[in-house]
Amino acid sequence: MKTVILAACCIGAAVAMDAGRSGQAATRQGMKSSAMDRIAEQYVKLVLALGQHDADYVDAYYGPPEWKKAAASTQTDLDTIATRARDLATEIGRQRQSPPAKSGNATPDDEMSRLRVQYVERQLSALSARVRMLKGERLSFDDESRALYDAVAPTLPESHFQEILDRLEKRFPGTGPLVARYEEFRRSFVIPRDKLDPVFQRAIQACRERTLQHVTLPPSEKFTVEYVTNKSWSGYNWYQGGYRSLIQVNTDLPIYIDRAIDLACHEGYPGHHVYNALLEKHLVADRGWIEFSIYPLFSPQSLIAEGTANFGIEVAFPGKDRVEYERTVLFPAAGLDPSRAAEYYEVQALVDQLSYAGNEAARQYINKQIDGAQAATWLERYALMPHDRAVQRVRFFDQYRSYVINYNLGKDMVRRYIESRGGTPDAPAKRWAEFERLLSSPRLPSGLQ
Ligand SMILES: [Zn+2]
Repeated sequence: MKTVILAACCIGAAVAMDAGRSGQAATRQGMKSSAMDRIAEQYVKLVLALGQHDADYVDAYYGPPEWKKAAASTQTDLDTIATRARDLATEIGRQRQSPPAKSGNATPDDEMSRLRVQYVERQLSALSARVRMLKGERLSFDDESRALYDAVAPTLPESHFQEILDRLEKRFPGTGPLVARYEEFRRSFVIPRDKLDPVFQRAIQACRERTLQHVTLPPSEKFTVEYVTNKSWSGYNWYQGGYRSLIQVNTDLPIYIDRAIDLACHEGYPGHHVYNALLEKHLVADRGWIEFSIYPLFSPQSLIAEGTANFGIEVAFPGKDRVEYERTVLFPAAGLDPSRAAEYYEVQALVDQLSYAGNEAARQYINKQIDGAQAATWLERYALMPHDRAVQRVRFFDQYRSYVINYNLGKDMVRRYIESRGGTPDAPAKRWAEFERLLSSPRLPSGLQ
């Protein structure tokens, strides 16, 4: 009940802020919901059809199972998918021109309907771009991220990263590559293999408790954890529908203590698991918006998903809270020296500032300015990744390309959006309320302003 009141109140605030765009909104509100429901169904079927050509494309689907079976048996070709996507985009445009169903001031429901139309339209345009890519069209890194994720990451010079590296040089003086000295330091912070599951379970419990203090989740929500190998990612949430997730943790490489909270928050609470459960509850179950029962990975939704999952770590463990929890609970649970927790997180805070170096390596690699070996070397030098992790990241670039921007740019865009609406670190209740509202709405990356 508390969540419903909060959500309605916050959506009201959103309408007030959007008053300047109300002319456009009024036209969009004119679209009859039944027409939009038909368009949404076609959109879901197109995503399923494209999933037949691209194994990574459909990240989650819990809509009617017969639609999935039909996509598998029909095997619609890419040209037909492209034509249908174009026709559907035209149909959305035509529907928008129909006269408004009612006049007067925009209500919170109108605002959600407007976001819904924009969402399907933009997701559909990303689908068309993905079809073109599968047909062989090569986009530059920035053109691709704009087409697929509705955002472009800033280009940063090497000097930007060098400044941060110079500070780390002072922290780890010596000879040889800095990455080797950093790795030597980090060696004391690896979670021993036999402690991995208990440490993760503690972290998940803490993330869940903190989230439940502010967010009402469907009572049946739950997730299971599996440990896997030979993947290009470090963790993955496979949303199953029915408020259930399967979370996989990759144990190919050593797992450092900071990954426990990072993964538990990012994949679980208040990250992907919560995001998917809230979309299912508020949009699919309560409103019948079937388009949210499918999650196409290469689409603007991913920037919101990854951005909120990463920002959610700070929401659940703000400021010194994190170090305090690590020092008193997780370090002892992992058998690590708790007196070194503060020191470890001071270093990590500096290293985190190198995160955009990964975008630069991916941009140059995707734009064919450097090859895979050079990209790995670049990551070792500027992102301070040891060689095997850098090689794993290049594998990630091969598989997911410009998707990398969704993590760091997504997080920064979500933070700016939440804080611009009063959800600053010194106003935790408002921060959580705005965060929950974003997790429950069909907002696009370009709408995070
Ligand atoms: Zn993620």
